[in-house]
Parts: sequence; C-alpha cells; structure tokens
Amino acid sequence: MPLDVRTIPCLEDNYAYLAHDPATGATGLFDIPEAAPIIAVLEDTGWLLTDIFITHHHWDHVDGLADILSKYPARVIGAEADKARLPKLDVVVREGDRVEIGSEAGTVIDVSGHTINHIAYHFPETPVVFTADSLMALGCGRLFEGTPEQMYDSLEKLAVLPENTVVCSGHEYTASNAKFALTIEPDNEALISRVRQVEVLTQNGIATVPSILAEELDTNPFLRANEPSIQAHLGMDGADPAAVFAEIRARKDRF
Ligand code: ZN
Ligand code: FE
Repeated sequence: MPLDVRTIPCLEDNYAYLAHDPATGATGLFDIPEAAPIIAVLEDTGWLLTDIFITHHHWDHVDGLADILSKYPARVIGAEADKARLPKLDVVVREGDRVEIGSEAGTVIDVSGHTINHIAYHFPETPVVFTADSLMALGCGRLFEGTPEQMYDSLEKLAVLPENTVVCSGHEYTASNAKFALTIEPDNEALISRVRQVEVLTQNGIATVPSILAEELDTNPFLRANEPSIQAHLGMDGADPAAVFAEIRARKDRF
C-alpha cells in the first residue's frame, strides 16, 4: 500500500514531509525546519509520528527537532558518517541501508554535494524519494561542501530511479530555478510549458513540489548535462557530462 505523503511548508521557503503507512499507522517525518506547522498536520490527521528522518545537518532542516520530540517520542534516523554534527540519532544509516515506515521499506542513498553525507530516502513501493537539497524541482542544491563531480554522481543515482517516482525536495526555489533553466535551454518545449505551470502555481501561493522524476529528466538542466543541445549551447560539445554539470552549476551560482 503506498505511503500517504503530505507536503508541509515551513519557515520562509522550506518543506517538511510526512509519510503515513495506512497499513500500520506508522508515520515518518522528513526534516524538521520548525515544529509548529508539522504539529498542526499531525493533529489534523491524527497520525502517530514514529520515525524522523534527517537528510543533512543544516539548521533549516533540523531546528524543530527538540520541539517535536518533546511532544512525540519518535525514533530519529540520520547518516552515521555525519553523526558528529547531527542532533542525537537513535538509528544511524549509510548508503544502501534499509529503513522502514511501518510496513513500507526504503533505502538510503548518499547524495553528497550540497553537504558531504547528505542522504536521500527512497521508498520504491509508493514510489517516492525524499531528496531535500540534492535534487530539487528544476534545480539542485548549492555546493557548500562537495565537488561538482560528487553532486553529479549523486544526481545520477537519483536519475536512474523509476520515472514515476515522486521527488520531495526541501525548498520552494522553483520559480527562480525556472528562470535560470530557460537560460540553459530556451527552446525546450517541455521546460517552457513547465515554467508556465510553475508561474501559475507560484502566483497562487501553491507549492510547486513534489514533482515527478520524469518531468525533472525532461526539464531540469542539472539532470541534462549529457544532452547534445545543452552541450552545444554551452560551447561544450562532447564534453564530460560532469564538466558540463559543473559549468551549469557555476552559471547558476552567478545567476
Ligand atoms: Zn541545506
Ligand atoms: Fe535547505
């Protein structure tokens, strides 16, 4: 039975997600930017919070944890390799490890780049992947710690998941990502129509996430470094896709 996923806007432009297993009643929380909006959804749904999954150590993904734990004694899961700078973990995980929300099994994917030891959580049966600041809607996280090669490898791991996978990312950055994406691929029809949709959603204050992996593959420039048309546009015909990715990321940082 698929997980029931709720998108929860937090702070200025962050998202947390709740994923509820109807079979067992277990509920997972992915990142804790702040407690109040998450508590509101838990109270509204009556879901029992059982597991809290942390993606990376940045304050805007963990700051609400103590307040949540004071109300709900859930298990806290995070990357073993990053435990020194994460809040106290009950379960440490590394790439390939199995995680669970009730009867739903997931897998840990190392998506280092934005930070080293940033992890994503993939639940194939739903199917959904919680990517936070690695793969984002029409974008990817800024490289605070990793190299472009590391982030490119991380995105490649996500790109090979089934195309119908729902991508739950950490921020509402899609409108500005869309403007940038058009500078890389001004003639991509799928991108042009997605940008129109994003504009309508944004104008109406509606979340542009989650997205579907298939649409990211068709429109997200950071997943398209091996496209000959993009390489030509950048004057990098036949270049190593990781180098093309590095150029796109560098342009985004200046955008
Ligand atoms: Zn971050
Ligand atoms: Fe963030």
